[in-house]
Amino acid sequence: MSFFKPNYKPANESYQYPLSRSFLYPDIELVCDVHFSNRKSITIQIKEDLTIHVRAPLYTKPKQVNTFIESHKSWIYEKWIALKEKIPVKEPLSPSEMKRAEALERKFRKAAKEYIPYRVEYFHQFTGGNYTSITIRDQKSRWGSCSSRGTLSFNYRLMMAPTHILDYVVVHELCHLTHMNHSKEFWSMVESIIPDYKECKKWLKEHGNELSIEAYLAKYN
Ligand SMILES: [Zn+2]
Repeated sequence: MSFFKPNYKPANESYQYPLSRSFLYPDIELVCDVHFSNRKSITIQIKEDLTIHVRAPLYTKPKQVNTFIESHKSWIYEKWIALKEKIPVKEPLSPSEMKRAEALERKFRKAAKEYIPYRVEYFHQFTGGNYTSITIRDQKSRWGSCSSRGTLSFNYRLMMAPTHILDYVVVHELCHLTHMNHSKEFWSMVESIIPDYKECKKWLKEHGNELSIEAYLAKYN
């Protein structure tokens, strides 16, 4: 069966942004982020932050992506474990530090639930589009997402970022309600609202890993 079927119009699901698939192997849940682009074959990449990325040609059926992942389960697992073992183990938190960290996380999550919808509502007047709900999550190395059903998700750790960075992520996801991709049109829409968005992107890339409870505690202890 070919991965290319020029007449095949993907189901809406293919455009869900971003698409992810998870599986258990043997008892570890591994999550693969699926990206569709103008390429010829499917590949798998495991990044240093242990995120797994499956890159597939445009119009690949979700079922084919699943089959591909299914047949590469043990390969993905082995590579992932090997990479994980290379990462130095952090000193575990003491019970009192753990308590502080948990309290702090609750505080940030609560603040995110109150503050982020307010920023979404503010910027929505400029972006338009329809969103159905806003959820606050903790997705490792993902700051926000926008599903085809209009659910906007944001990482609570954004509350530790400067406000203009949080605003950039909010605008980014809101613009996905109009453009479900990272096309030129998408970026020019982002730029019309956040003129220095490139700086924000760069900041997140360079400082994103500092937005963690552990880093926050170490800094403000
Ligand atoms: Zn995006």
